[in-house]
Amino acid sequence: MAELKSMECKNCGAQVFFDIQQQVMKCDFCGSTYLVEMDPGEGLPGEGESILLFSIDERKARDIFNAWTKKGLFKPGELHKALWREKVEGTYIPAYNFRFTAKTYWAGDRKRTRTRTITGRDGKQRTTTETEWIPRSGSWEHPYDMFIPASAGLTFEEVEAIAPFKLESARPFSTEYIAGYKGERPTIDENTAWSKAQEECRQDERSRVSSEVERINTLDVNFTDRLVKMVYLPVWIFGYRYKDKYFKALINGLTGRIWGKKPVSLIKVLLAVGIVVLVIAVIVALIVATRG
Ligand SMILES: [Zn+2]
Repeated sequence: MAELKSMECKNCGAQVFFDIQQQVMKCDFCGSTYLVEMDPGEGLPGEGESILLFSIDERKARDIFNAWTKKGLFKPGELHKALWREKVEGTYIPAYNFRFTAKTYWAGDRKRTRTRTITGRDGKQRTTTETEWIPRSGSWEHPYDMFIPASAGLTFEEVEAIAPFKLESARPFSTEYIAGYKGERPTIDENTAWSKAQEECRQDERSRVSSEVERINTLDVNFTDRLVKMVYLPVWIFGYRYKDKYFKALINGLTGRIWGKKPVSLIKVLLAVGIVVLVIAVIVALIVATRG
């Protein structure tokens, strides 16, 4: 069984754990080298937590990343060459998995418009539109299975960008799964994550009600049968520096879905803008010429 050690990044606040045999020199989330070793036992996963294992290996992740670096209209030409040797880290990102039932009671008004043609006193016909609001209400129940990232290293939007993760294939956490990988400890507490989950759920329910009525007067969402579990999500992280700026790309370790930011070549952007301006100038000149 692998023995784990943990470190904290003083720049972004991420707490990373890894196999004791591994050397961790920099933080993959922000590129900082300001890492501080934590006390033994601190910042390590505990019992009752779950893990989703990688099904995309490093080679496959590299292929996906390489194909991605070749794409993009405005990326610097030499980017692909500069990146193919970059180090890649398989990291388990912590997330809360909330399962619950949302019971919603709603009331509102449905819009109905009628167009009528009436004959005025002067004998002329006019059409009028009348709007009527018909009160409607209802209630329903929906099961939810959601995850809310608990990461300090990645934002909620970054993790969402490579979702979904098949949470049903999660298994109990064991340190042996960490050999060759890294993991991050949650730095967002359960209450904060639960508020976020409720907010997401209310938004979902609101859009469901919106398909029933045009005007919502009451929207009451009650949460029952709540189950919570900490689950580690497999993510390949490609962190790289380009002209002193830190960029990263993320790959879902289960589906291979990639998301990331690429540097932009200023020359290419200026060239594109120049072409657009030129085309507009030619069109304007042609219009002027045909009118004159
Ligand atoms: Zn960091």
